[in-house]
Amino acid sequence: MNKKTQPIRILIAEDLSSDVELAVREIKKENIDFIYRVVDTESDFRKELSDFNPDLVISDYSMPAFDGMSALKITRSLPLNIPFIVLTGSMNEETAVACMKSGANDYVIKEQITRLPFAVLEAIEKRKTSDEKEKFQKELLESEAKYRSLIENSNDAIYLLYERKFEIINHRFEQMFGYTLEEVNRPDFDFISLVAPESRPFIEGRQQKIATGGKVDDLYEFTAIDKNGEKIEVEASVSYIDYKQGKAIQGIIRDVSERKKMIAELIKAKEKAEENDKLKTAFLHNISHEIRTPMNAIVGFAEFLSNPALTPEKRNHYTEIIVQSSNQLLSIITDIISIATVEAGQVNIQESDVNINEVCKLIYEQFANKARAGNISLEFTSTITGEEVRVTTDATKLHQVISNILGNAIKFTHEGGVNFGYRLKDNDVEFFVEDTGIGIPKDMHREIFKRFRQGDISTSKLYGGSGLGLSIAKAYVELLGGRIWLDSEPGRGSRFFFTIPDRKKAVPVPVRELVKEPGTNFEKTKTILVAEDEDLNYILLKEFLKDLNVTVCRAANGLEAVNICKADKRIDLILMDIKMPVMNGHEATRKIREFNPGLPIIAQTAYTSEQDKNNAFQSGCNDFISKPFKREDLIIKVNSHLGTDRQLS
Ligand code: ADP
Repeated sequence: MNKKTQPIRILIAEDLSSDVELAVREIKKENIDFIYRVVDTESDFRKELSDFNPDLVISDYSMPAFDGMSALKITRSLPLNIPFIVLTGSMNEETAVACMKSGANDYVIKEQITRLPFAVLEAIEKRKTSDEKEKFQKELLESEAKYRSLIENSNDAIYLLYERKFEIINHRFEQMFGYTLEEVNRPDFDFISLVAPESRPFIEGRQQKIATGGKVDDLYEFTAIDKNGEKIEVEASVSYIDYKQGKAIQGIIRDVSERKKMIAELIKAKEKAEENDKLKTAFLHNISHEIRTPMNAIVGFAEFLSNPALTPEKRNHYTEIIVQSSNQLLSIITDIISIATVEAGQVNIQESDVNINEVCKLIYEQFANKARAGNISLEFTSTITGEEVRVTTDATKLHQVISNILGNAIKFTHEGGVNFGYRLKDNDVEFFVEDTGIGIPKDMHREIFKRFRQGDISTSKLYGGSGLGLSIAKAYVELLGGRIWLDSEPGRGSRFFFTIPDRKKAVPVPVRELVKEPGTNFEKTKTILVAEDEDLNYILLKEFLKDLNVTVCRAANGLEAVNICKADKRIDLILMDIKMPVMNGHEATRKIREFNPGLPIIAQTAYTSEQDKNNAFQSGCNDFISKPFKREDLIIKVNSHLGTDRQLS
């Protein structure tokens, strides 16, 4: 549909109305569609320039109150390119040249007024062309700026390669590769300089294929290299465009290093998850077996016990089996919890200033009976005689590591004995446990540190065990910042070693007598308060304490314990359960500490985690023993808090 054209708006500056009529008539003759206004003063001229907004000005050269030159100057002072025709009665050549120089488009002499409509048409046409050209140029500039900004703001390196020379590169290109346009625009700079050596055969192969008209992928990946020699994993795409007299390559290069790293990590995580899944299945399978084995013995022999016809010997034997199986079950459960905690990455290292001799002494006391029962000797040797070594480490973990290795050494030794201790080596403390036991073949030296790995089947059948002890030891040693290894041969005993960093200078302090066996009698009768809500647990504790020279009394909850302590000043020690009705063990301990800060309180609880232990210490307990515990372990703890006057049983 044709847009209806507007009439041409002509502003006429003329003082003679007859001349105006003449001009109008002439223009009309040529069927020009126009409207007009007439002015003859400067102020009116200025006013109409803005009000009437003319497409063309026709001005007389000289008027009584105004003149054509001024009108022209005023018109040209505006940004709009309004065509200006001077209409004059007579004009010498100089005036005409001056008018044209000042920006008039044409001049028409009144005697030749018939030329006016053509001058009008020509001026209007010229204006249209120049307006359009201006508009086109403006649009071109705008569009170029738009594309430039698109290219410059791109997160990908963009370039234009013509006759093997970089003609255009964007800011990101400079950033990615470290070159300026000047540097890459030289004829001796080749695209291959941006390619890492390992990707060059691929890129050269591509270039060759293109040169011989072969087909290549539009999108491809390679390792690029920047000006400093840093490698960048990139994804590139190219297209061919018409440029100058030929074809240019327009390329886009995207840095995909991050993406590639992420993908590699995802693949690794996926593989790890699959591996973990397999391990978990094997783990559950093993655990189920390990738990069912001792449970089977417990359930089976417990049933026999109820038979009244059972001889006392058999009864003792079955009871012994039940106790052993229960202990086995307990150690399996403890091991499973430890390994699960390690795997969940939830093991907290609780560092403190640890006296290694005291840790070893306690372990010695715990294992002395076992060694004696197996008819082998147990020795603790410290090469730092007469001194104690203090190290910043986690005492509980250290205790567990030595116990696991020592327990194995005693278990697998039938003649001779076991010797353990430590020595200082460089910046480490090196612990050793050596035995004269069955030994371990070389090919098993690494295997035995893996979960559930035991020696050969015959060994595991003969000795039992879960195969978790050494993997826990290894995990803990590594968490403590050390390493573990062994030296062993079948039939020639084993020597296990592990280190922990000696993160505190050895401080020589006078040594106390190292090892003493647990005593069971006190010179003076001591009173122990057992805070315990469960009747069976209380009965068991009373049994455990029976042979000591102690009086045992009971509080059925925390509040009772507090009240008894307040009323009876002779209480020497409290065995404090934690989970109790009315008032729990934490609160009871805190209350007792308010009036008796020195009274030994040992938390005895089925809460067994590190956190539980810390909570107990924080509420004011002096020690902690987790249920179920062995009589022997309880007695060691009770002894250690009831003074130094221990005696052999
Ligand atoms: P467990 O002792 O419960 O089977 P461990 O992880 O503690 O599990 O030990 C793994 C295996 O390493 C044992 O089954 C045993 O074959 C071997 N082993 C460990 N310590 C010794 C030792 N001192 N002498 C001989 N063999 C040992």
